Amino acid sequence: MRAAVYCGPRDVQIKDVPSPTIEDPHDVIVRTIAASMCGSDLYLYGGEVEQMVAPGRTTLGHEITAEVMDVGKEVSRFSPGDRVSFPYSVSCGLCLSCRVGQTAHCETTGNAIYGFGVAFGDLGGSQAEYVRVPLADNHLEHVPEGISDEAAVFLSCNLPAAVIAVDAAQIQATDTVAVIGSGPTGLLALQLARQRTQAEVLAFDRVPSRLAKAAAFGAKAVNVDSDPIDDVVAEATDGRGVDKVVEFAGRGDAFNLAVSITRPGGTISGGGVYLEREHPVSLFDMFFKNLQIRLNGFANAKVGQWRAMQAIERGVIDPTTVLTHRVSLDEFPQAASQFAEREDGFLKMVIRP
Ligand SMILES: [Zn+2]
Ligand SMILES: [Zn+2]
Repeated sequence: MRAAVYCGPRDVQIKDVPSPTIEDPHDVIVRTIAASMCGSDLYLYGGEVEQMVAPGRTTLGHEITAEVMDVGKEVSRFSPGDRVSFPYSVSCGLCLSCRVGQTAHCETTGNAIYGFGVAFGDLGGSQAEYVRVPLADNHLEHVPEGISDEAAVFLSCNLPAAVIAVDAAQIQATDTVAVIGSGPTGLLALQLARQRTQAEVLAFDRVPSRLAKAAAFGAKAVNVDSDPIDDVVAEATDGRGVDKVVEFAGRGDAFNLAVSITRPGGTISGGGVYLEREHPVSLFDMFFKNLQIRLNGFANAKVGQWRAMQAIERGVIDPTTVLTHRVSLDEFPQAASQFAEREDGFLKMVIRP
């Protein structure tokens, strides 16, 4: 089959690789109908975590809408032809971590993530024609009929992550909210947050088209490179700082921005990825402001997936509003580069192998 293979920093190539087969009676083999590239893939793509991957062999991608092709002998919930989507990580539902909702930390699979290299289970990715799904009965989900192929791609990661982060922020109807990072997931979180408060929602980013989209979703757009952030926040909050921050940019500087703009007693709900082992953060500021910190960036997508499905089915959110590009597998390496560059106008792609 053909798949996107990591060959080095910013070098993804479409190659012929062995097609996956049933290796365990609990496996399912799916055919990719639609896939995408997540912001978290950019850490792999850029070579920042090259020790986690096998260049020339690791295939990428953890977002998918797929059709079941083959099922192992022990699989009972799925049959060939079923339309499905998986949460980005493989979970058993039975270990202690799964039972307390930490499905991304499943003890049975050892944090296995599709298309995330040898450090996370060495599983094939979704930017490929076919994918092997281990423990299918335990974590694979049917896609309801009312959800399109393109919308279902968001069920693997982006939308559950947005739902979880916005829930954790516990936004009240009078809360001023800041969403840091207006990428695909940030814009989904923004739309969910917008529905929960009558007060102002500020959206932070530096890419003009992303800020324009945020404004179209009802936020006050703040360009972190050119707008006076302190003044904008002070004006929106009578000088107090925002009540709730939903952080989806990732990296330490974005976290520090969250700390600086949150009011005393406010909440920072982090959904972004932080890979810095050490980063200067003011413990004093967090202490002195009595900040409530809730990090769910290593999102338990399995737990958020059902609510994400409900949100789409009931018209709470249409995730395809952040789709900007539709590409074939052959066009993917070029599109990946545009996504990595945060090219103006490029937000989210759907890949159809
Ligand atoms: Zn993701
Ligand atoms: Zn488990």
